[in-house]
Amino acid sequence: MREEVRDLSPSNGATLAVRSITTETEIPDLHVFMEHQFDAAAGGRPTLHIGAAVMRPFSAGSVMLRSRNPLDPPVIRLNLLADERDQARLLEAVKLANKVARTPPLSGLIDWDAAEARDVPDDETLMAMIRERVSIFYHACRTVRMGDPLDVEAVVDWAGHVHGIKNLRVVDASILPEMIAVATNPTVIMVAERIAKMIRTGG
Ligand SMILES: Cc1cc2nc3c(=O)[nH]c(=O)nc-3n(C[C@H](O)[C@H](O)[C@H](O)COP(=O)(O)OP(=O)(O)OC[C@H]3O[C@@H](n4cnc5c(N)ncnc54)[C@H](O)[C@@H]3O)c2cc1C
Repeated sequence: MREEVRDLSPSNGATLAVRSITTETEIPDLHVFMEHQFDAAAGGRPTLHIGAAVMRPFSAGSVMLRSRNPLDPPVIRLNLLADERDQARLLEAVKLANKVARTPPLSGLIDWDAAEARDVPDDETLMAMIRERVSIFYHACRTVRMGDPLDVEAVVDWAGHVHGIKNLRVVDASILPEMIAVATNPTVIMVAERIAKMIRTGG
């Protein structure tokens, strides 16, 4: 970025949330977000990181016990972009990020593209770049999700009680019933405060 960008701080947290072409819900499922960073690789030049993300992915990973030893780390399988709908949506999000970067006044501040992603000629090449660089938001959830006792995939009820086991609750990100399109940290805090209130009032 040009030197004057250094004065624009903070840009972190500026997020564009939109609905993808294919989504069937009202919930924005694509995020384009900005982070103001100083990248050593850029020789101390101000660097703006523009990220693109698919929220509420269809691809599901898994967390499995490795063994009966509780000290063994679990087996975590991310399974990123396994579902073609996620591939198409992430491609759309990256193209949108590129469009933002090519649009004034931001485009006038960019004099160097570290990711070399702005002017990729075709979708296939861009998708190959995405696969090489794709990462996660660390928003893992739903591994012991809430739901009705008759739902075979549900582990806890709406108050965090584990179905079929007395006096045991789970209250963390794992009980969220579905993938959410916003940050998980404040969401988990809200769920925890709500269930803590239920516990205090005997619910
Ligand atoms: C690198 C990273 C960046 C993230 N950035 C964001 C962000 O910008 N915004 C956002 O909303 N979310 C972010 N998240 C996700 C967010 O942190 C999680 O969704 C959220 O913390 C989940 O809350 P939790 O209570 O389920 O689990 P945690 O917050 O992980 O809490 C689990 C707690 O249990 C403790 N614990 C573990 N084992 C034991 C044990 N045996 N005995 C006692 N205690 C134990 C741990 O020390 C920890 O305090 C990020 C996550 C990561 C990893």
